[in-house]
Amino acid sequence: MEREQRKLTASEQKRKLQFDKLSAQLVADGYKRYDLTVDIVKVSFIALAVMLPFVGIAVALYFAVNGAQGLNGSFKELLLFVAVTVACVFVHEGIHGLVWAICCRSFKAISFGIIVRTLTPTAPAPDL
Ligand SMILES: [Zn+2]
Repeated sequence: MEREQRKLTASEQKRKLQFDKLSAQLVADGYKRYDLTVDIVKVSFIALAVMLPFVGIAVALYFAVNGAQGLNGSFKELLLFVAVTVACVFVHEGIHGLVWAICCRSFKAISFGIIVRTLTPTAPAPDL
């Protein structure tokens, strides 16, 4: 069954073209190609399922250490928590970009973006 493809940005189209070209070259050289991509929505659900037990453990440890009084945080602390969480998303994607840059020995090819439909930040593989 053919997967529904989202509309790619110009940069993504360029990367896909380069990927398809390299892929065709490798197949022509005798390599076998396997499509191991996973739909972003499916990945989000899998990530949630994998993450939930760890969140449960963290919450249990938090209450074990702080008791119920740990919940009387102010609105300012809640905003700080949200801000730190958002900052961690950027740090996470930055680590992806850093690893890509180290692997291809260049920062020039690294780009960052957001898939708007799923609000997914990305640090895609560099242009080849
Ligand atoms: Zn990641």
